[in-house]
Amino acid sequence: MHFVDAKGILTGSGGYYGMNIYRGCTHGCIYCDSRSRCYQFMHPFEDIEVKQNAPELLERVLKSKREKGMIGTGAMSDPYMHCEENLRLTRRCLEIILENGFGVAIQTKFDRILRDINLLSEINRSAKCVVQMTLTTSDDGLCRILEPNVCNTKRRIEVLKKCVRMVFQRLSSLRRFCLLSMILRITSQ
Ligand code: SF4
Repeated sequence: MHFVDAKGILTGSGGYYGMNIYRGCTHGCIYCDSRSRCYQFMHPFEDIEVKQNAPELLERVLKSKREKGMIGTGAMSDPYMHCEENLRLTRRCLEIILENGFGVAIQTKFDRILRDINLLSEINRSAKCVVQMTLTTSDDGLCRILEPNVCNTKRRIEVLKKCVRMVFQRLSSLRRFCLLSMILRITSQ
């Protein structure tokens, strides 16, 4: 893990933004395409780059926006990796998103998101919160091979259920989506 002062924190426009507080990921999923050279990593993928000034950058850019919007995070790097336990940068950025009236769409494979469930619930009440989790396989042994450093699919379903209860409980019409995005072909080799 190494620390940098980033120049920017949001990409996108028109009310839909992407945010990566970390670059690289330690979850070790064998199908991960974020390692691709097209993303121009200058360091090993597992040597996480930490944008230590992410909260300051985010606060500045959100205060400068005239219209509110949605901020997506987790597409290129899980925002709840093990290092987030102590660094708490994801949590701080969620607080800033809430303070500034923006919504969030967050992708993760880790139950550490439950630490921030009250915060996500508040964001959902004031704007909008979307929680996305990849559900890979019900075979725990296979899950450990495919995704060695995250909680298994059964646990992720439990986390989603808690999110439904805690984050979305005040919605009169709750929408749940299932996105079928990638099929893994497993062979005996
Ligand atoms: S959690 Fe996402 S970014 Fe991290 S290794 Fe797995 S697929 Fe890649």
